[in-house]
Amino acid sequence: MVNRKNKGGGGSTKPAAAARASSRLNPAATSLLVVDAQQGFTALCPNELPVPGGVAIVPAVNALLALPFARVDATQDWHPPDHRSFHGQRDGFYPPHCVAGTPGAEFLPGLHTHRFHAVWRKGYHQDFEAYAVTAQHPAFAAFLRASGITAVVVCGIATNICCFYAARDLRREGFEVWLAEDAAAGIDVPAAGLFQAAARREGEGLGIRYVTVASVREAMTNSQ
Ligand SMILES: [Zn+2]
Repeated sequence: MVNRKNKGGGGSTKPAAAARASSRLNPAATSLLVVDAQQGFTALCPNELPVPGGVAIVPAVNALLALPFARVDATQDWHPPDHRSFHGQRDGFYPPHCVAGTPGAEFLPGLHTHRFHAVWRKGYHQDFEAYAVTAQHPAFAAFLRASGITAVVVCGIATNICCFYAARDLRREGFEVWLAEDAAAGIDVPAAGLFQAAARREGEGLGIRYVTVASVREAMTNSQ
């Protein structure tokens, strides 16, 4: 085995990239975005859109919720019964899920929702799909900026879909974006052309940092 970690030179740009990226997060300028941590995306609602490992993210998300973020935003997929993304409708990619007012739309049991400062619903118009909070609420980035936020930690479901698109949009808006992979669950959806590996590659190319809850905790603690 070659230990590449301490290998110098070799034409790799990784050490420089790692040095450029901050390992600290200033809590006063960092927000948490909890994406679609809802029953309809887990095995609790097997007829909706169960994402493997969805229920299991709750302790990790709660661990993030215990950290001193300046803001905590949550999103909630919130569809009408005839939403365009549902089977038999215009796009037809998915079974009906997260219909407003139904158990599938509820947050996961045990999730510390009392820590949420704001809940941003999305996908509530029949003919408009919104994977990302930024798609449904175009002023979200400006709102965060006006709130003094420069970095956003993203977690939730699904890692490569609603988490990814929100992370991508925020990154493009200039935020430092960390995606806490162990507080997120992903799924490949071939019918919609959505794949976990491809999303991660694109995310890394944009400068999204794929991290763990422990590294977020350490980064926020170090800066205090
Ligand atoms: Zn949806």
